[in-house]
Amino acid sequence: MAPSDDTIFGRILRGEIPCDQVYADDLCLAFRDVAPQAPVHVLVIPREPIARLDEATEEQAALLGHLLLVAARVARQEGLEGFRTVINSGAEAGQTVFHLHVHVIGGRPLAWPPG
Ligand code: AMP
Repeated sequence: MAPSDDTIFGRILRGEIPCDQVYADDLCLAFRDVAPQAPVHVLVIPREPIARLDEATEEQAALLGHLLLVAARVARQEGLEGFRTVINSGAEAGQTVFHLHVHVIGGRPLAWPPG
């Protein structure tokens, strides 16, 4: 991981601050959101520091696919019948941590469209 990843998720990946981990492999880490918006709210993050989805490259296509497969795996592991995945990209979309992350949200009825 590049030392320039000074986001809170970079610090979690480096073990500088703790997280409530639910899954980990060579490519990514999944942990519970500190401010859950539903009974299950997990974040899946790549170990590689991609700031936001629109900065991902073709070379990272397999990694992006892996993050979605892990999101589904985590949802199964959490016993969810249905779930929502969200990637906020950019401040206007509500992104607050600029290390790419997939929200996995479930455990209650989810309205559509989201706010
Ligand atoms: P976003 O607004 O899409 O960038 O999502 C960032 C998410 O990270 C929010 O849902 C926060 O609650 C969550 N978050 C921030 N700091 C931490 C942390 N230390 N551990 C777990 N989740 C965090």
